[in-house]
Amino acid sequence: MKLWNTLGRKYEEFKPLHGKRVSMYSCGPTVYNYAHIGNLRAYIFSDILKRAILAEGYKSRHIINITDVGHLVADADVGEDKVEQAAREHKLSAKELTRKYTNAFLSDLKLLNIISADKFPRATDFIKEQINLIKILEKKEYTYKTSDGVYFDTSKFKNYGKLSRQRLEEKEAGARVGVSTEKHNPSDFALWRFSPKGSKREMEWKSLWGVGFPGWHIECSAMSRKFLGANFDIHTGGVDHIAVHHENEIAQSEAAYGEPLARVWMHSEFLEVDGGKMAKSLGNTYTLADLAAKGFDPLAFRYLALGTHYRTPLNFTWESLMGAAVALKKIYAMLRDCDKPKVGCAEFEADFKAAVADDLNTPKALGVMWKLIDSNYPSGAKAKSLLKFDEVLGLNFKKYLGQKLKVPSVVQKLVSEREQARKKKDWTGSDKLRDQIFELGFVVDDTPKGSRIIEK
Ligand SMILES: [Zn+2]
Repeated sequence: MKLWNTLGRKYEEFKPLHGKRVSMYSCGPTVYNYAHIGNLRAYIFSDILKRAILAEGYKSRHIINITDVGHLVADADVGEDKVEQAAREHKLSAKELTRKYTNAFLSDLKLLNIISADKFPRATDFIKEQINLIKILEKKEYTYKTSDGVYFDTSKFKNYGKLSRQRLEEKEAGARVGVSTEKHNPSDFALWRFSPKGSKREMEWKSLWGVGFPGWHIECSAMSRKFLGANFDIHTGGVDHIAVHHENEIAQSEAAYGEPLARVWMHSEFLEVDGGKMAKSLGNTYTLADLAAKGFDPLAFRYLALGTHYRTPLNFTWESLMGAAVALKKIYAMLRDCDKPKVGCAEFEADFKAAVADDLNTPKALGVMWKLIDSNYPSGAKAKSLLKFDEVLGLNFKKYLGQKLKVPSVVQKLVSEREQARKKKDWTGSDKLRDQIFELGFVVDDTPKGSRIIEK
């Protein structure tokens, strides 16, 4: 299997560091709100990666962290803690708020058929580990104190910027206004932040530097070390993590332990809506619940995501989601009606495997799948291969296999009336009947071999 490594921008053969076990870390959500479909795309990506690894015969150990403290509203070292701000707005305690949105996130993953991580560690459960890591950095003289916290001095870490290939000077030129003036370099970042003077935070801990809370990046360095050790196989995240969050994780871990943090770094691209940005101000930050409210199966979104390579921006439109939903229903219909699975179609299985092994080329893999569906192979052979493909695709094919669709008699009656209408070339009548059938939860799919009924 070949994968694209952001670190070094290399397309390289993947080999685990230790035998057959692949260790993976994926940056998880900040649980102050529901995840939107752009966030969720990153976890569909890491799931496909994990499934591809398992299909290659490896075992995996996968960690997704839960950020429940320390992520500030501006994604930098200014502003309020996202969790504390949202908790106040919702009149909940920080704990109640983060529990609520952690559960919502885990339920979204289930709905998208994403294999659970082995652990979902919460940042607030590992404060001691984060403090210990900062102590090591302090001892090695990578830190300095300001009036609002303990900072990492990026000029002391020789390889700072190696992931994004951004030099320190470029970062300085592009630094945003409002950064703490006490910082030695604009790219320096907080490891520990003091609670603001005169106000009490809900989440704060004692440390030898003062009462406060960890910076956003330190949790990933501390928790990946705890659960995966140093130098693990693959670290994933969204492309928006590359320039700051992941550079900072690398700086902290490698400065402290003198070993690489992860060998392969992989990043999924953004999701766009109607070819443009997704933003709260535009009212288009959709959640899975928004999709469900319009009657869409969450797996239709998963199918849509697989239709675009993870390193290409995914353009979400309601039309494209509808197209994905219809395509998926057609596959389910085929599986319902197929013969008992027998021997699969070896040449298609080889092509599918090659597409996945080519840096997870899921659009190509879906193409192979449709070529098989449209081929003249017996349906049982197609089904056998489809089940194999689904180990990677994760579209729940098994659930529909041989499960004949139960069509209520009232729908059956409307379908035969529609057949009659079509015979008489009464197109208006036929369309009316199709709409009635649709309202009852079924779709008439007119194929060259005649019409058939599939679920809506
Ligand atoms: Zn992280």
